[in-house]
Amino acid sequence: MHELQKIQLQDLPASGWHWHADVPRSQLEDEQCGHVDALHMLNSDARWDVDLQRQGGCYHLSGSWQARVGRDCSRCNAAFEMDMQGETLRVFQLAKGATGEDDVLPLPGKVNLLDVLREDIWLAWRLTVVCKPDCKGLCQRCGKDLNDGPCACPTDDGDHPFAALRTLKLDK
Ligand SMILES: [Zn+2]
Ligand SMILES: [Zn+2]
Repeated sequence: MHELQKIQLQDLPASGWHWHADVPRSQLEDEQCGHVDALHMLNSDARWDVDLQRQGGCYHLSGSWQARVGRDCSRCNAAFEMDMQGETLRVFQLAKGATGEDDVLPLPGKVNLLDVLREDIWLAWRLTVVCKPDCKGLCQRCGKDLNDGPCACPTDDGDHPFAALRTLKLDK
């Protein structure tokens, strides 16, 4: 096991490295650990299953991750937990005097894998999420959570000028 924040590509043995690890939530949330924005919504450690292999002059980092996060439903505002998962895929190269742009790194090829994982979780982030696929949301008039049953608002207003709007599906 190598410290995720202090990988040096130059040290990679011919057999490569493999991580099958629970990356501590405390590290992913720690502002001091790396330059990619820290994560603040984790409800668990993140599981990372990732391989680093050298192929020719390139270093391939590939695998998958999953984490449990706390979200608010975009329809009913209820707090709920959901699992996020995604792929990790990066190709690094080493070059003398490189600036670190485009994943071409100067020797000895320092990589902060914690940043890579943070970045992947941010990239998979969706702005709108629902607590369940058939969440009924809140009544637009009285604010009642319609998952708990219908509210007392009148529904028979077919001659209301904006009645047609009620049939529109608004996915905020
Ligand atoms: Zn909901
Ligand atoms: Zn209502």
